Amino acid sequence: MSDFREVPRADKGVLRHTAHRYGESELGVPLTFFGPTSGPVDLLLMASMHGDESDSTVALSEALRRVPADALVNPVILAVNPDGILHGTRCNANGVDLNRNWPASNWSPEPVRYKDHGHTVQDIELSTGSAAGSEAETRHLLALVQRLQPRAIVSLHTPLGCIDDPHDSELGRWIAAETRLPLVPDVGYATPGSFGSWCAEQRIPIITWELPTEPLPDVIASHVPVLLKLVTGTHPVGAG
Ligand SMILES: [Zn+2]
Repeated sequence: MSDFREVPRADKGVLRHTAHRYGESELGVPLTFFGPTSGPVDLLLMASMHGDESDSTVALSEALRRVPADALVNPVILAVNPDGILHGTRCNANGVDLNRNWPASNWSPEPVRYKDHGHTVQDIELSTGSAAGSEAETRHLLALVQRLQPRAIVSLHTPLGCIDDPHDSELGRWIAAETRLPLVPDVGYATPGSFGSWCAEQRIPIITWELPTEPLPDVIASHVPVLLKLVTGTHPVGAG
């Protein structure tokens, strides 16, 4: 953990870190991450497993662009689901909810239902995949997690406005306090085949950071400083 000087404001518009390719999406878009390329690492941070939650990508990118190359300590994935971002959909290009496609023991072929951002009924159906781990985005991320061996994972979503940490870890409590979001042990409904279910079976602690439904400038103002500490490893608590 060392101090660092933020990138000058005039220069933070451009993402200057080297992108490392870890695979291709179903549409052939490069899947990339930034930072260390081998493990074990302390934290792996990621955004936009759901393509219609791209505020999470903007917030994480904003943090990354403020960090000089030599101060980037923890690997960052800005878009787990780039095809979903291109299409503006929660699912990937095959209509699969990537957060239900993981080869956890509770994976289910039953369609998953979700509600869109404007309504309150979970009546929109998505596939969980033709099999557990059927999607390129899932398989490549799984291999990357095994390669980087993170001590913990932080995955950004929107818009529930909470920090979901089943382990009630020191890191989860610190993020909740810094972002003034409630710390919760789950999101209140079953998530078979979720990334979190898979991580739990691999004994990798995962914190799901649900950004709130606030205007993006407010999200950036209150959340980017916290993300900045995590990507540079200058946060005061360990990952465990
Ligand atoms: Zn989500």
